[in-house]
Amino acid sequence: MEQALISLVIPFYNEAGQAGQTLSATARVMEEAGLVYEILAVDDGSADETWETLIKAAQEDSCIRPIRLSRNFGKEAAMSAGLDAAKGDAVVVMDGDLQHPPRYIPDMVRLWQEGYEVVDGVKESRGRESVFSRLFASVFYGLFRRMSGLELANASDFKLLDRKVVDEWKKLEEKDTFFRALSAWMGFRRVTLPFTVDERPNGRSKWGFGKLVRLSVSALTGFSSRPLMLISSFGTFFLLLFFILAIQTLIRYFRGQAATGFTTVILLQLLIGSIILISLGLIGIYLDRLFREVKGRPRYLVAETFEEKGRDLD
Ligand code: UDP
Ligand code: MG
Repeated sequence: MEQALISLVIPFYNEAGQAGQTLSATARVMEEAGLVYEILAVDDGSADETWETLIKAAQEDSCIRPIRLSRNFGKEAAMSAGLDAAKGDAVVVMDGDLQHPPRYIPDMVRLWQEGYEVVDGVKESRGRESVFSRLFASVFYGLFRRMSGLELANASDFKLLDRKVVDEWKKLEEKDTFFRALSAWMGFRRVTLPFTVDERPNGRSKWGFGKLVRLSVSALTGFSSRPLMLISSFGTFFLLLFFILAIQTLIRYFRGQAATGFTTVILLQLLIGSIILISLGLIGIYLDRLFREVKGRPRYLVAETFEEKGRDLD
């Protein structure tokens, strides 16, 4: 029987100083394990020499297939580009900074061969992370669990997907993806594989605070409409409050002791005003999502790909 082909999808954004090392370390693991592989190295519109580094690696190792996106579309889109191009019987998605250590790949493949369709890499230790980013993660995952019912704590984008799962993923039409949660939503026979997050050898994390907040809002609104329901609950609460206050005020009025209730008025004004603004904003976020999905623009655009000459395709 022909040996299974394992595709590795690795997004790179401004990783010129790191990409070469990641690719060679990954290739070494695959060769030592005797696995047949291809590496989809996706350059997510880097501004540095990442693309040149990928080409150089591909010239030395014909198993490496670089794809360059036309601009920086974000990690989610870059992973999608790799998943679309992958030809393997199983596809492993991993970060390009060795924080998802390639040494776990042979274990993932073994679990897949045992019949699991999805192998979820779960962070056993989150590596060295700031207190702030730990706190942010725990608040986000708590909210996410409550709103969407999906448990993602310690989940990562380090995953192996069976061909079947990748084909289903490709049928999902939404443009605004959240790989981690979508793949959990998809189900299939899954197993978790704990892994230790390694230190990043070179460069630094590409996630600024703004990018993280955007991803979190997009993930929450993409997997739950509970925030929209919340608005109505706020409304009901304030209506009740209004009735109580109205009765009290009317009684006072008819007793001829119309209160100098300026404080109450101002407080209510502020409270209700801010709730209305937040609620409007929330509706705006959902509208924006709808707007983007309706436009139906592709998740990414490919500018060029590179295949080492003499390599037989398909
Ligand atoms: N990445 C990407 N596009 C982006 C940002 C990041 O393809 O817009 C890649 C990045 O090159 C890396 C992976 O996504 O391979 C994870 O990024 P990073 O290490 O910055 O994230 P962290 O480990 O801090 O979650
Ligand atoms: Mg990283």
